[in-house]
Amino acid sequence: MLRQVAAGVLVHESEFCQSNAVVVQGRAGVLLVDPGVLTHELAALADDLRELGQPVVAGFSTHPHWDHLLWDARLGAAPRYGTARCAATIRDRLSAPDWKARTAGLIPPDIVGQVPLDLLGLITGLPADTARIPWDGPQVRIVEHQAHAPGHAALLIEERGVLIAGDMLSDVLIPLLDFNGTADPIGDYLAALRLLEGVAGDVDVLVPGHGSVGGADQVRARIDQDRAYVHALRDAGVLNDPRVGPAAKEGWDWVAGVHAGQLQRLAGVSRFRSG
Ligand SMILES: [Zn+2]
Repeated sequence: MLRQVAAGVLVHESEFCQSNAVVVQGRAGVLLVDPGVLTHELAALADDLRELGQPVVAGFSTHPHWDHLLWDARLGAAPRYGTARCAATIRDRLSAPDWKARTAGLIPPDIVGQVPLDLLGLITGLPADTARIPWDGPQVRIVEHQAHAPGHAALLIEERGVLIAGDMLSDVLIPLLDFNGTADPIGDYLAALRLLEGVAGDVDVLVPGHGSVGGADQVRARIDQDRAYVHALRDAGVLNDPRVGPAAKEGWDWVAGVHAGQLQRLAGVSRFRSG
């Protein structure tokens, strides 16, 4: 179930929304990024790692959305990290007495019973200027930006040429803007794409939070595609995006509805802020 995408970097794709969990092999164990979604998947992942003799020595959540914050006791008690903003956002949410019911309300009803919520979001925020994940393995650079969710971070494993993009640069999911965490969702998203563009030259393998793992050629192509989408959204222009409409991959037809929702939402946000 674990597929190697680069030396010492393995990916597990979930049944839910092609969510990618990423395993990075270190000296004494692995770093596990966005572990996954369904209970049986997390259990299988824990079994696979045990068979490989590779305990989880660190975890990381790319952003504070439920499908990137899950954990299972079988994965062990390693420290789990996120950016300071990511951790603060989820801490705030977990402080509500009814957080579990609220979170369950965000999960599709057909899978909610298979999603383990007990250990959701128990992450430590890394100080805002932290450049790399503190762990004993290949250096993992934190590329934080304000797009999609507060404290969203991509991870760059330079010596392996791997970019873990979080919920950006997907071949199936359009840019989903963060309308609540920022006053300028469009401008911030475009700035984030520029930031990723700045590291794109070092990337041979792109792992999006949802969708297909891409090669070097996909990095710039997906940055361009996401930018074109955000421009079309900003300008209410003609959208020519294979992820929306009849060309969408099977099972992803709902993305068109999400796009319509974003258009509507933006109609209520001043266009002048976008710059
Ligand atoms: Zn997300």
